[in-house]
Amino acid sequence: MSRPVQARINLENIQYNFSTAVAHASGARVMAVVKANAYGHGAVAVARHLSRADAFGVASIEEAIELNDAGVAQPVVLLGGVFASEEWAVIGQRGFQAVIHNQAQLEGLLAHRTVAAGTGLVIWLKVDTGMHRLGFTEAEFIRARGRLLASGKVAKIVAMSHLACADEPGHSMTEGQLRRFKRAVSGHDGAKSIANSAALLTSPETHFDWVRPGIMLYGGNPLVEALPEHLNLLPAMTLTSRLVEVREVAAGETVGYGGQWRLPKRSRIGTVAIGYGDGYPRHARAGTPVLVRGKRAALVGRVSMDFITVDLGRIPDAQVNDEVELWGERLPVEIVAANAGSINYDLLTGVSSRVPRKYAGSG
Ligand SMILES: *Cc1c(COP(=O)(O)O)cnc(C)c1O
Repeated sequence: MSRPVQARINLENIQYNFSTAVAHASGARVMAVVKANAYGHGAVAVARHLSRADAFGVASIEEAIELNDAGVAQPVVLLGGVFASEEWAVIGQRGFQAVIHNQAQLEGLLAHRTVAAGTGLVIWLKVDTGMHRLGFTEAEFIRARGRLLASGKVAKIVAMSHLACADEPGHSMTEGQLRRFKRAVSGHDGAKSIANSAALLTSPETHFDWVRPGIMLYGGNPLVEALPEHLNLLPAMTLTSRLVEVREVAAGETVGYGGQWRLPKRSRIGTVAIGYGDGYPRHARAGTPVLVRGKRAALVGRVSMDFITVDLGRIPDAQVNDEVELWGERLPVEIVAANAGSINYDLLTGVSSRVPRKYAGSG
């Protein structure tokens, strides 16, 4: 038998979450964000399954090419912009859409020889409405839009922005960003887009023409608070491994690297074949739950590269080869993230390439 760690991906749950996105999108078109290998779930498998998505969002041309090579038919949008002018030729050939969020990208496209007038490019032009990471100021946006349209290289422009505090519903920042966005795009008669998962679920005034859900598709809660009762998202990834050792350890002994964790009383310590080399968070603290036989056992000792150790004192029947759920359908990834000083996005995207993904619900 090979190393028992695996990430089971439930594509039906992703489909269900996508339907929830559609149901709450006020009729806006839905771009399913599948960057970072669909937040660790496998971009090609997810994109093939979401046949009703209106577009897919990725972070790089490599991610876009992967989807295109796999025969994904919907438009693929380069949300991270264009990093080098050479990309424009590929964008033109493969029919990708791209975000332009700075002057260098704009000049790169306008000067590019192989992207001729009449190519029918769709450009997502980004306004910096207050996040101050990417995007044009309001005045720059209006100028950039005018130059793109005048160049004849662009068939359509989608005006877009990104929200900094949508994960805290009712935050004044969102209101301010919306105000700036509306001012910047007041002369833009094309499509508009600003909502991520959090805004999609909690702020209908942000929906406009396109919503861009990511984390919610994978069952992750996009909010810093609990989701409202009526919103039910289903976790799509269940990360499991198995107990490979179970041993009695005496009170006063320590467990793991550094000898930092000491047994307050005699207990049974289980060793699970998973570690930070698989993407289990190294900073998960003692007490972080894992599920064994449907019960919660507590992480003890430091997370190492290939193994973790757990206290099985409250699960007397636990034995070698038992399956252990690290997070997933029965243990929310948000709980593990909170115990590791991290967030669901980080844990899901961090599951490493050595963890085999097993797909269910692909029919
Ligand atoms: C990643 C990303 C999203 C999706 O955000 P979630 O919080 O995962 O829904 C939307 N828009 C842009 C521009 C992004 O980069």
